[in-house]
Amino acid sequence: MIQLYIPLNFLGVIYREIKQSLTDMERMFSLLNTDKEIADTPNAKPLHIENYGHGPAVGFESVSFHYDAKREILHDVSFNIPAGTITAVVGQSGAGKSTLARLLFRFYDVQSGKILIDGQNIQDVTQASLRKVIGIVPQDTVLFNDTIGYNIAYGDPSASIDEVYEAARAAQIDGFIKRLPDGYDTQVGERGLKLSGGEKQRVAIARTLLKKPAMLIFDEATSALDSKTEWAFQEELLSLAKNRTTLIIAHRLSTIIHADQILVMEHGQIVERGTHLELLAAQGKYAEMWQMQERAALD
Ligand code: ADP
Ligand code: MG
Repeated sequence: MIQLYIPLNFLGVIYREIKQSLTDMERMFSLLNTDKEIADTPNAKPLHIENYGHGPAVGFESVSFHYDAKREILHDVSFNIPAGTITAVVGQSGAGKSTLARLLFRFYDVQSGKILIDGQNIQDVTQASLRKVIGIVPQDTVLFNDTIGYNIAYGDPSASIDEVYEAARAAQIDGFIKRLPDGYDTQVGERGLKLSGGEKQRVAIARTLLKKPAMLIFDEATSALDSKTEWAFQEELLSLAKNRTTLIIAHRLSTIIHADQILVMEHGQIVERGTHLELLAAQGKYAEMWQMQERAALD
């Protein structure tokens, strides 16, 4: 994720100036880098989701990918996320986890293999429809020097105020906002109220939920939280994942024990897969990582 976020911090100042011309985070990323080569094919159709209220099925089929031809980043990666289920990806920093999310969102095209959503190759559908279906909750949330309401509404500028309230309720930040002296009109950001890591994350979730994505991606979205807050986030995650297809890139393994499937990545390959209990029983890499984190938690 580092590559995706460094430019944000770096461009923070300019970014605030141009915020009016940007309607969402994702579009900003594409402006910043990769979209030059990514274009809709002449006969691209909108992505069709069989059952939007349940989430799509996602498949990676023998995907290999490099940013730079000299170094392969993903090698022959295959996995399926059944519709409406939770898949977690774990692994060392640099293993290629965030790259999976970037490819799904089609910031880049794969060099071989394919990525399917409900059976449609994402290269054959319009980018706008693809990006409408997927909501990403990033590791660091950029807050604008504007009202907290604006910061949420930005997830979908066409949303009604009631939809903004509903998203805030689902992200469990509605109560907090209502207790602020100016409520949804409270100024936040550097020149306003400073929000804690957990509050910012909830704003990010509300913003993402406003898009009503059929698929949710959390990319180490809880790594800035202390372990107690992260623990509390568990249950919430399950409720957010309900009726959606969910991909969680996780830092702390304790947050993903309920995932339907856990993929362990190493050097661009999936080296283990299974549920938490299956992977513990296998006594491989995952079990080793788990023991290390357990030990660290006791220190
Ligand atoms: P993870 O999320 O598992 O930490 P990433 O998917 O972000 O890993 O990165 C995988 C590898 O790809 C890393 O070695 C990283 O340095 C490299 N990488 C990521 N983004 C780029 C980029 N835009 N250009 C070149 N290399 C990149
Ligand atoms: Mg990452």
